[in-house]
Amino acid sequence: MEKTCMDALPLTMNSSEKQEIVCIFGTGDFGRSLGLKMLQCGYSIVFGSRNPQKNNLLPNGAEVLSYSEAAKKSDIIIIAIHREHYDFLTELTEVLNGKILVDISNNLKINQYPESNAEYLAQLVPGAHVVKAFNTISAWALQSGALDASRQAILKKENPFSTSSAWLSDSYVALGILGFFLFVLLGITSLPSVSNAVNWREFRFVQSKLGYLTLILCTAHTLVYGGKRFLSPSNLRWYLPAAYVLGLIIPCTMLVIKFVLIMPCVDNTLTRIRQGWERNSKH
Ligand code: NAP
Repeated sequence: MEKTCMDALPLTMNSSEKQEIVCIFGTGDFGRSLGLKMLQCGYSIVFGSRNPQKNNLLPNGAEVLSYSEAAKKSDIIIIAIHREHYDFLTELTEVLNGKILVDISNNLKINQYPESNAEYLAQLVPGAHVVKAFNTISAWALQSGALDASRQAILKKENPFSTSSAWLSDSYVALGILGFFLFVLLGITSLPSVSNAVNWREFRFVQSKLGYLTLILCTAHTLVYGGKRFLSPSNLRWYLPAAYVLGLIIPCTMLVIKFVLIMPCVDNTLTRIRQGWERNSKH
């Protein structure tokens, strides 16, 4: 294949540091421009094309294959094709299964189709993970854009549908707010003016039941804060656990002791002792 004079000099990194292979479907304006930028960022680029033999405007260093052969080379495939021509992707569902498809397409009109282009793509290739990206960058900006952020295209190979970190951060905030609310309530009911206004049962309920609930919520809040890195060796600087781990020792000990004490076998015995029972009593 004949190459053009387009240079693929790395912008930010050593060219010897080759990163992973990224596949781009379509050798049009946008595919070529993005491919060039990604080559400059150190990625290996494989183009998928209807006519792999006839493409002579592609950036230096890029490989061009048929769509199905190109798809086999990478787990990330950027679809630089107009939505109207997506139909042929249904023939590639097997090879695209489990891959990350990046939909970059825009429509000519607002509400042109009932579903978004990414949703349409996800329907055509149900086994793939579809993400939307790059559609707000123009091919022109990619080619000429030393003035804006489009000079580098960084792609992270993380599962975009991983929601565990979102769950962790939401739970962390929710548990913290709820725990703090109950903590304030406990403080208010401890004020003599308030505690004198409630009866003994109400006071006991707030101080005992809500007290433990507050302790559980606040402990869970701190446990969730640690999340996946809770006991990760990389966090053990100087072989010392982080402050939030140390801060959990007393509340966790309290909760374990409470759990043992409310077990029926222990609780029943303690209740009987409170009521005057003695082990070797003759009466
Ligand atoms: P383009 O220059 O027309 O290129 C589209 C490519 O699609 C063609 O080169 C062709 O590659 C491929 N293709 C596959 N099946 C096709 C078919 N049946 N008929 C025609 N082409 C077919 O378009 P583009 O400007 O690169 O835009 C591509 C996508 O990027 C569009 O979805 C667009 O909305 C989006 N986009 C573009 C820009 C921009 O500035 N251009 C900006 C943001 C988003 P092969 O011949 O190699 O198969």
